[in-house]
Amino acid sequence: MTIKNLLRKNIASLTPYSTARDECKAEVDIYLDANESPYPNGCNRYPDPHQKQLKRRLSQIKGLPAENIFIGNGSDEPIDLAYRMFCSPGVDNAVAIAPSYGMYKVAAAINDVELREVLLNDDFSLDAAKVLAATDKNTKLIFLCSPNNPSGNLLDRNEIIKIIEGFKGIVVLDEAYIDFAPGGSFLPELEKYPWLIVLQTLSKAWGMAGLRLGLAFASAEIVGVMGMVKYPYNINVLTQQKVLEMLEESPATEKQVAELVAERKTLHENLKKLPLIRKIYPSDANFVLVKVDDPKAVYDKLIDSGVIVRDRSKMPLCAGCLRITVGMPAENRRTVEVLAGL
Ligand SMILES: *Cc1c(COP(=O)(O)O)cnc(C)c1O
Repeated sequence: MTIKNLLRKNIASLTPYSTARDECKAEVDIYLDANESPYPNGCNRYPDPHQKQLKRRLSQIKGLPAENIFIGNGSDEPIDLAYRMFCSPGVDNAVAIAPSYGMYKVAAAINDVELREVLLNDDFSLDAAKVLAATDKNTKLIFLCSPNNPSGNLLDRNEIIKIIEGFKGIVVLDEAYIDFAPGGSFLPELEKYPWLIVLQTLSKAWGMAGLRLGLAFASAEIVGVMGMVKYPYNINVLTQQKVLEMLEESPATEKQVAELVAERKTLHENLKKLPLIRKIYPSDANFVLVKVDDPKAVYDKLIDSGVIVRDRSKMPLCAGCLRITVGMPAENRRTVEVLAGL
């Protein structure tokens, strides 16, 4: 099995757009090749389509060669790209766990790809055999999410490995919350599994949701094709600059993650004491999922008190469930206080 055989035919034979800067890489004083405005204002030039500086920095941080890193406009870009690269509309299908992140389904629908959702066990643990049983000869992608959203738990490592090793296609493992779950990442395994795409993001632990920067880690071959299929200038100048600046302050992230993990524990303990909370699920992420008898009423009353949480009660296996993001200590205290008064 090679990547070529897995790719859609039109993608395997694609001639990508060639930007002005791709055609001549010489460093000169006068650039008259891209019809840009010559008046300097900080953003009159096109951004680097290959984000070389940013990839160098991320390569240092993640301990992986730059050729294994794709940078997208949020994680949603590589999710969409995976469908566009591997799934022929109306023919191929993908499999995802449920409940999980909503974009796997939306991106599948936009690309006219059938998404087969496989329920996790009642405790949100993963059953590899069930996922593999949902695949057939037209299944090109399997989406897993660990720690999973909205349940918060890391998926069992051995079950993930069973899926990667048992499936003849691409496994997309979404690790958006991995910074809150030390030791849980599959990045160290990337070399061993050439069909694995690991997604991470700067939107959660790194505190840059507003900048829109998602990461996909995969074989150089897959990353190369992603680079051909993406919009040429998918990451704008301001985002590239600002992210580089903020990555210099990465110790701030470590401290914030440690604080949020400690706060998660406090929040869990405080919520557990409330009779209103019927169940609280263990979390490896920066949120907790709780079960109540009347989620709509609790949700509305929280809003009346100035607190918005996410009502996930309509999702599979999530009857009665609200998802609460871990905020600042005072915000978490206030939320518990409001819930205690209901
Ligand atoms: C928040 C989240 C993302 C991040 O999406 P971005 O587009 O990078 O902001 C990805 N996957 C999951 C499961 C998430 O919860």
